[in-house]
This record gives sequence, C-alpha cells and structure tokens, in this order.
Amino acid sequence: MDHLLEKATRQHTKDHNSRLVLRTIYEYGEISRAALARLTQLTRTTVSDVVGDLIARGLVEEVGHGATGVGRTPMLLSVVDDSRLVVAVSVTNDEIHGALVNLRGGLRQQARMTLTDHGGAAVLAMIYAMIDALARAAEQPLLGIGITTPGLIDPATGTVLRAINVGWEDLPLGALLQERYGLPASIANDSQTLALARYMFGEPVDTPNLVLIKVGQGIGAGIVLGGHLFAGDGYGAGEIGHMVVVDDGPPCKCGNRGCLETVASSAVILRQARALAADPASPLHGIAALTIDDVARAARDGDAGVRAIVEAAGRYLAIAVANIVSVLNVRQIVISGRVAPLGDLLGAAVRDELGRRTLPALAKGTLVEVVAMGPDAPLVGAAAPLLTYDLGLARLQRRADIDDA
Ligand SMILES: [Zn+2]
Repeated sequence: MDHLLEKATRQHTKDHNSRLVLRTIYEYGEISRAALARLTQLTRTTVSDVVGDLIARGLVEEVGHGATGVGRTPMLLSVVDDSRLVVAVSVTNDEIHGALVNLRGGLRQQARMTLTDHGGAAVLAMIYAMIDALARAAEQPLLGIGITTPGLIDPATGTVLRAINVGWEDLPLGALLQERYGLPASIANDSQTLALARYMFGEPVDTPNLVLIKVGQGIGAGIVLGGHLFAGDGYGAGEIGHMVVVDDGPPCKCGNRGCLETVASSAVILRQARALAADPASPLHGIAALTIDDVARAARDGDAGVRAIVEAAGRYLAIAVANIVSVLNVRQIVISGRVAPLGDLLGAAVRDELGRRTLPALAKGTLVEVVAMGPDAPLVGAAAPLLTYDLGLARLQRRADIDDA
C-alpha cells in the first residue's frame, strides 16, 4: 500500500511538473530550458527530463537558438500548436458549425450543416455526424469535444436543461458524447463560450475574472470567476436580459415588462433606427435592409438622432453592468455580439452611466470594452476548457521579461 501511494505521489508530481512546464512554454512562446527552470523554480535536471518527455509526446519542439546575447545562445523551445486538437461544434438556430481547434485557438477543417429539422433527436444526429467527420479528418490526437448551444446548461455535468430552439430538455449531452467517443466533453451556452474565448485568447490582463455581455436579439452574460465559468445554483447566472430596467416598460416575451432586452437589444436599436429612417433628412433614409453597421456609420458621422439611440441603449446596459460590478467587483467587462460595430460609441455611453450607478472607485477600476469577437469565437471558446482540462494550458498572463543571459 505504502509503495502504491508513493508511486501515485510520484506520478502526481510528474504530471504537475509536466503541466507547469508545458503551460510556461505556452505562455512565453519561445523560451530556453534555463529560463524555464528559473520561472518554474524546478531544477534544471527536472526541467530537462520533463522537456524531453514533452518533446517525445510531440507537444514541444526545439525551434533554434535565441538571437540575442553574446557567445553561446540557448536553444529555445516552443509548443507545437497543431500537436493536439479539439473537436468543436457550435449549434445556432439555423446551422451547425464545426471545426478542429488547435492549441492556440486556430481552426482546422471547418464544416457547416444547415439546421433543417429542429427536433431534438435530429439535431443530436447531425451533431454526431459532424463530430464523426471531424474526428476522421484529425491527423493528431484529440483532447476532447467542446459544444456550444443556446439554452440553459449545467457546464459541470454537460447537461442541457433547456434549449428550446433545438428541442432539448434535460439532455445529458456531455455524458452521451463521452460514452460514444470515449473523450472528455464540455458543454456551454453561447454567452459562456464567448466569455471563455475572450478569457483564454483575449489580450492578457492581470485578473482571472471576466464578464462578457452578449448583446444580440437577446442579451445574456458569460461569467468567468477565478478562471472558471460560474453558472449559478440554478445554472441561470448571467441571464441579465430579463433584469427589469424600466418600470412598466415595453412588454417582453418572458411575460414581464421593461426587461433589458426590450430596451437595449440589437433588434430594439434597429427598430428605433428604422423609425428615424422614415425621415428623408436622415442619413439612414432609403437604406433597404438596415443593419447595425449602417447605424454605427451614421452615429460616427455625427447624426444626433442615431447617436441618441445608441446612447440610450448604453445607459440601459450600464444598469446591468453596475449591478454586476457592484456585486462581483469584476474589473473586466466585455460587450460583444451584434452590437459590436457600435464600438466605443456604445462603450463610452456605458462607462458614463456606470459612473453614476455604482461607487466611483468601482467604476473607475472597471474596464468596459465593446469588442467584435469574430465568427470563429464560439468554436474557440467551446474548445478552451478542453485545453485546460487535459494539458493544463491557461490564458496568457501579462508576463515578466525573461533574462536569458
Ligand atoms: Zn423579459
């Protein structure tokens, strides 16, 4: 027994060191063994052993000698970005988008299927077909399967409690995938996945906390606390679209009145912009199918009416942001989704109002950004937890300089 325990402890230490060294190489991009030893505080012998093992596993490679310094420059190591892949699948209301995602969030082998049948079983069959095809195409070992879908999800067990648009209720999707493919699976909703994508692959910042508010037809937030998704006791954390911000306001599809979605969604902004466009003097007049890009352009060109629409949406969003910041004191707030083209016109409106709705010190320390996440973000975010789970890869930190002399 003692012997077994000792063996288990040794294996545990080895795994820990291996993950630590891999993560450090990943964070620094290119780094020498000597710098690794300094940063990880492992002995040079241990670092050499671990690196040898990582190279043998194909995860790390030597990429040549450092360019700076005098005399013998050290051999630099780098992670092989395509050495492991995640099968990622994004389910939306009208299509299934899949890809193999590499260790840096790069997409390989993208594939799309149009969702014609929204029955629960049919959607599941299409997801299986997508995963089968991607797994066959993978030329490197798979770390797991990451899925993003709208709906109420328990990310810990991978259970979809309710996803109306694809007909799922209490579907143990994570368990089904694990059983069918023998790989770990991670399930998250659309706002959560965008938050993970931003957290893992966004600009390095000094905090493990982030809230991403996705503003589209609906409004929802993904909350990352301490580097992990926070889902709440009933898995509804981040359902801010139905926070009431206007007493006796416009009716909402949830049955209540004055929800955030009824005054700040992209659909509301477009509806208000279309009303303005009826005026022949409006720069929006005569545009056939008005988009948020048109609204953003007119606002940037200084049209007062259009700016007022954007600023009003920003003020309402600021109520939600103020509540989030007051409860959690999260300093990194990202607004994304269909309103992203509005950029800092929207961001500034949120920041102005935030200062009036929370303690000045809290508002001052909060970074509110409006960011376009791009079409790959759902897949990248869906893959992110698998990179952490299997290999211990983490987001890039703002890092200290390495001294290789
Ligand atoms: Zn509502």
